[in-house]
Amino acid sequence: MAERSIRRLPQTVVDRIAAGEVITRPSRVVTELIDNALDAGASAIEIEVAGGGTERIAVSDDGCGMARADAERAIDRHTTSKLDPADDAAIGRIDTLGFRGEALASIAACATVSIVTSDGRAVGTKLHHEPQADEPTVTDAGRAQGTTVTVTNLFDTMPARRQSLAGAATEFRRIVDRVTAYALGRPDVRFTLRHDGSETISTTGRGFTDALLGIYDREVASHASTFDHERAVTVGETEESVDVSIDGALVSPAIDRSRKDHIRVAVNGRPVLNGAIETAVREGYGPRLPSERFPIAVVRLDVPPALVDPNVHPAKETVGLVGEDAIGPALTDAIDTALSSGDDRRASAVATDLDTAIETGRPASRFDELSVIGTFRSLYLLCEADAELIVIDQHAAHERVNYERLRAVFDGRPIETAKLDPPATVSLSPTARARLDAHAEAITELGYEVEPFDDSTVRVKTVPAPFGRTATAASIRDAVGSVANDGSGADPREVLLAELACHPSIKAGDELSAEAAQALIDRLGECADPYRCPHGRPTMTTLSEASLASAFDRQATRFQ
Ligand code: ADP
Ligand code: MG
Repeated sequence: MAERSIRRLPQTVVDRIAAGEVITRPSRVVTELIDNALDAGASAIEIEVAGGGTERIAVSDDGCGMARADAERAIDRHTTSKLDPADDAAIGRIDTLGFRGEALASIAACATVSIVTSDGRAVGTKLHHEPQADEPTVTDAGRAQGTTVTVTNLFDTMPARRQSLAGAATEFRRIVDRVTAYALGRPDVRFTLRHDGSETISTTGRGFTDALLGIYDREVASHASTFDHERAVTVGETEESVDVSIDGALVSPAIDRSRKDHIRVAVNGRPVLNGAIETAVREGYGPRLPSERFPIAVVRLDVPPALVDPNVHPAKETVGLVGEDAIGPALTDAIDTALSSGDDRRASAVATDLDTAIETGRPASRFDELSVIGTFRSLYLLCEADAELIVIDQHAAHERVNYERLRAVFDGRPIETAKLDPPATVSLSPTARARLDAHAEAITELGYEVEPFDDSTVRVKTVPAPFGRTATAASIRDAVGSVANDGSGADPREVLLAELACHPSIKAGDELSAEAAQALIDRLGECADPYRCPHGRPTMTTLSEASLASAFDRQATRFQ
């Protein structure tokens, strides 16, 4: 996002902006700092919290950073780089999360603030401000491009405000809730939340499924399918038709919740509470969910900025939406369609749960006679089959199952892709770089859009994303390797599938229930090649009763 230099807003504009009390509790500090990081175009945001947040909150980003002169103005009141003071109509077109220029000023009025920032120049800036001081102290600082804002001793000088806070655990839970909302609403950005040194939330910045995996667990992530709809909606008295784009992730109604808090809504990139939209989401699930139950769902609406009134709530957590009554039904319909169309589901996400049979047309599992008798080191399933003890590597087996599922729906279709915004830079060895140039067309066909950056680096703008599984930017290295290797027999598409298949597979150390273990074996039995994982490693090994018997110097009971 292009940042303009920071200017003072004229009083007239200031008055039109609902100000209100901005910083009421630690979670408000966190949201304002995340907003700023996102407005700065960050692709990774790290949040560190000590205790309930009054002790210390630090937010680091890799966004555009600030030049010295801008940093010096940043904590003044009503200074912003996001609204042009000469343009009266600008406020109707706001596409940034901040625009009032008062967050940092408000934080600085009730806490000690230190900002370390660099806009990419050799020497960065460190600003330190105590709540009662007039001016911050400014010194040189070394830092990669981006900004770290550290807020300590929040409300130390405001005993009444301090008093009104809940206990540290509750205040921290509010922070977790906010970070969760942002991480799900911006799955293209990597979020990390650390609390007293341990990691509470971590997402990869690689799309909805990964974000759900970072916030919830594998079960939830594997039941999610992504959806993406464009709707023309007629709004307002003028009956104007506007384009609304709706996307997100819907967790299958097989998993439900007793409260609606797991419906996450973001409007134009900002996580918000909006009862009408939440109701519309629930209605989209309809009778697929029992009454009084709610789904886990992430819904993002992108609407023309003029339809959003961010001033309904001083903290912008609740937004008013012009045309809510028209957008709601469109959303309900989009969700209903996404949940009911089996094809949509295939196109967006492949079931990785173990209860769904693989669509191979093969009648029954060939491992019918296998029964699980135990596990070893939370990795190996021990199974009895007639006169053999079969040991299955659960991780390798699950990868194989995922891989065959992906392949079954992949067959002959063009590869879906996902845009990386901003593009990711990936370093390549000189050999890989030369191969990339030589096989540019094949790489494009695989779904990568790449442009040279410098001698050893490329910018990856688009990656393959079949069935909602977004490949990493770094997977371009494997793709280049496999494309260049023709003659070896490795089909680059298969190599890509193998890499995607291991995404949310059961890992070593995951304890499987007896039913899940049996289901895994059933699914494995339906695979065309159940004996190897997609990377070629064995999925199972056999110990015959005869070999055990001979180890113990006895005759096998069923020795043949
Ligand atoms: P607002 O976001 O409404 O403009 P703030 O008080 O939050 O007001 O921030 C003031 C200004 O400081 C912003 O307009 C922006 O130019 C700059 N700024 C704040 N945080 C960051 C950041 N993390 N990266 C780059 N610039 C920032
Ligand atoms: Mg701001």
